Amino acid sequence: MDVRSTSTASPPGTTGYPTRPPLRRFLSDCYEQFRSDNSGAVADYIPELKRADPAHFGISLVTIDGHIYEVGDSAVPFTIQSVSKAFVFALALEMVGEARVSATIGVEPSGEAFNSIRLTNDNRPFNPMVNAGAIACSGLIYEVEGKGAFERIRAKLSQFAGRELGVDDAVHASETATGNRNRAIAWLLRNYAVLPDDVDAVLDVYFRQCAILVTARDLAVMAATLANRGINPVTGVQVITPHIVARTLSVMTSSGMYDYAGEWTYRVGIPAKSGVGGGIVAALPSQMGLGTFSPLLDDHFNSVRGLKVCEALSARFDLHMLNRNADVRTSIMADYDIYGISSRRSRQPHEQQILDERHSDIRVLELVGAMNFGTIDYVTRKLTGEPPNAPLLIIDFRRVPDITAAGAELFGETLTALGDGGVTTIVSGVERSSTLWQAISERTADARRLRCFTLLDDAIEWAEDQVIYRHGGFTDVKESSHLHEQALLAELGEDEIAAIVKLSTTRRYEPGQRIIGAGEPASSLFFLQSGMVSVKLPSGVRLASLGPGMEFGEMAILEQSRSADVFADTPVTCLELPLDSFADYRRLHPETSLKIMRNLAAILARRLVAANAKVDLLSAY
Ligand code: GLU
Repeated sequence: MDVRSTSTASPPGTTGYPTRPPLRRFLSDCYEQFRSDNSGAVADYIPELKRADPAHFGISLVTIDGHIYEVGDSAVPFTIQSVSKAFVFALALEMVGEARVSATIGVEPSGEAFNSIRLTNDNRPFNPMVNAGAIACSGLIYEVEGKGAFERIRAKLSQFAGRELGVDDAVHASETATGNRNRAIAWLLRNYAVLPDDVDAVLDVYFRQCAILVTARDLAVMAATLANRGINPVTGVQVITPHIVARTLSVMTSSGMYDYAGEWTYRVGIPAKSGVGGGIVAALPSQMGLGTFSPLLDDHFNSVRGLKVCEALSARFDLHMLNRNADVRTSIMADYDIYGISSRRSRQPHEQQILDERHSDIRVLELVGAMNFGTIDYVTRKLTGEPPNAPLLIIDFRRVPDITAAGAELFGETLTALGDGGVTTIVSGVERSSTLWQAISERTADARRLRCFTLLDDAIEWAEDQVIYRHGGFTDVKESSHLHEQALLAELGEDEIAAIVKLSTTRRYEPGQRIIGAGEPASSLFFLQSGMVSVKLPSGVRLASLGPGMEFGEMAILEQSRSADVFADTPVTCLELPLDSFADYRRLHPETSLKIMRNLAAILARRLVAANAKVDLLSAY
């Protein structure tokens, strides 16, 4: 047996672990278990199909992130037959529009065999999955493209499969020679003006599309494209619109498995389409696409082994599309005000006091997971209920991969109402260029009032500034600070301070200039006298923003090299104290040294308390 598992992201064998994902093992087990089932028969009404090898059995499953599982004869080509109907229907919708398609073909299950000649009371084919409806679809495409119709279909199916598909000329010739029943259906459709004059040309398009060669792997990619809202997960190409995908999956659900469709949807619950060549496609929206190939067919013309694989997969993993569970309450990961939490910007004491008093003025809501109709409704109820919202509301999206149109609609309306009610909303964790931000801002009446920050920390800092400003405490960049105000030098006398100043050098920096760099030897510490600096990790994450009266680089007393970058945010003046001269000083003045060390211990302890508060708060969720 041939078992493969490939990914567009990393080819097999590039990592040693894990060696066998459980899903691959499951598919291999299915292969082993069902390959010995030789019940059913190969289709013989198209003579060329009799040549199929009944032993062939291939399974492929493609996830919506483009990972491809393959088992058995997944690379053996066979004719797509009726499986083409689903994709040609999608193409017809794309080319002539929904109104024209509905006027020509119904969407009701016929309850009859695929080749039934019966039409609806108003003389339309019942649906696009039976031969009459499929021939009518080919007719619609022929009316637009004429001689180019088949090539248009082949090209579209190739996009679905992610590779150029060919045709089995022998099967095409064989069906052309024997397909009198389809010919009768086509002429009946001509009689009711469903088809244009060129009946033979339309039939040839249909016969040819049925003879397109695919593999189980191709079918899996095609199904995964439907499961992935029309984007081929392997090539990344948007093949068809999400709207058309939903229509296509609907008719697959109601009529895709011949006159077994009702039973299929009841038992398996995955939109699917099968063909007399032995292929089955099954597409589970936002999960996966499955393609199977085994030419032995049951009485309904469905592949026996393919059916078993689908049934086993659905049963084993509870994949019925109507059996969904999602708890909207998990969408809010944390909901808090800034009590005990602050941005990484260090504040002057009087600023901090305002923040301590007004902590409930800033509410932070951290969302998690994909946002859709249900989850956003839950979120909006949290935002609009009692008690009224804080004047500053931060909604963090950094753990949100996506928002649906319905979600964005509800969210935009809520933000508009909150804005009208005087709440300033700040969206964090999104880039302005992202589709997520676009979806939200497009649906918010006055999007200019919305703030958007990439980092939650920046959003909190901005909101804190607003609170400080609104309560009269805004001092922003203090001109300069005396060394007495340095936390590290607290309790030092005039002489001691003077001695420190003597050992130090005044330094000035322009905004944006790097003052110290991560990895450099840590040979000095700095006392910030005017301006603002930011301490950042090489990844760009900000650890702190500091103002006058604060020190930085003080970890040099403990460590050999700098662990972070420090940048000037504004024009900066500081005193740099070289550690070697300070070391001499410490030997001569052990008492001063002790005071400084005690101060350092206090500074570090305060940081630890703040970090613990954050851990404690977040672990409550
Ligand atoms: N070409 C075949 C026919 O029209 C397709 C049938 C099928 O796969 O259901 O008879």
